[in-house]
Amino acid sequence: MSESAPDILDEGLKKLALATIRSNYSEYAREAVRRGWSYQEYLEQLVCQELQSRADAKIERTVRQACFPFLKTLEEFDFRFQTTITRQALGPYLGAELVNSGRNLILVGPPGVGKTAICIALAYKAIQYGATARFISCTQLISDLSRARRLSIWEGTLKRLIDPTVLIIDEVGYLGYGPDAANDLFPVIDQRYQRGDRPILMTTNKQTSDWGQVLHDPDLSDAILDRLLHRGEVLQMSGKSYRRHRPGQANTGGEKAM
Ligand code: ADP
Ligand code: MG
Repeated sequence: MSESAPDILDEGLKKLALATIRSNYSEYAREAVRRGWSYQEYLEQLVCQELQSRADAKIERTVRQACFPFLKTLEEFDFRFQTTITRQALGPYLGAELVNSGRNLILVGPPGVGKTAICIALAYKAIQYGATARFISCTQLISDLSRARRLSIWEGTLKRLIDPTVLIIDEVGYLGYGPDAANDLFPVIDQRYQRGDRPILMTTNKQTSDWGQVLHDPDLSDAILDRLLHRGEVLQMSGKSYRRHRPGQANTGGEKAM
């Protein structure tokens, strides 16, 4: 090899945008000598690391775009504290299964029982399987769409709620909505339903039988629930608030916040 070989290699890897190989190849060359790797094994090590760091970066990017208020994984969720929902019950909502069957889930329960955390954990699993996700509160969704209607940017705003593979609509019924709430929510649910591969995860403190009142339109609320529950179900959660009983371990929005 000529003396300028490392420069050529370095420049070439830079041009090819192989950043991980570029930062690791010298160290791994020494490692290869120490461990007696063949040329092929050395190359395999570098290629695998490049692939892994790209996959990690993609997940990180997708998580950032999802706008989760905090990140919780299913592995971090304490099913011994929250016993009204089991991991088995979440089976149909894990990873590829959730996306391929376009399933919907409505988690009903009082504050602090882990509804939002479970939705985020399920969306995160889907992201690990290559999906994209978007988290939005029901209040924000309704206000974004009604504003978009007034500004004639409704289609683009709606598209941003249809495009992500998994949509979390958080806190249905926590705050009072304007009279057009059901009209704003319906196209999101309907268009995602028509696509067939666009799951929706929802949290609410209101029984679905009260949604007609919450959304100020019992007929449209029925149409919304009909679509959601055609390929989905309602799971009830209850118990003590994790925020109050494990205050030190609940995400505050600072640590691990997205
Ligand atoms: P909810 O949406 O039902 O009001 P959250 O999902 O926001 O409740 O939970 C409140 C906080 O407590 C979050 O930081 C969440 O990660 C945490 N949390 C709730 N339940 C559990 C649990 N069983 N295991 C671990 N963390 C939990
Ligand atoms: Mg919540």
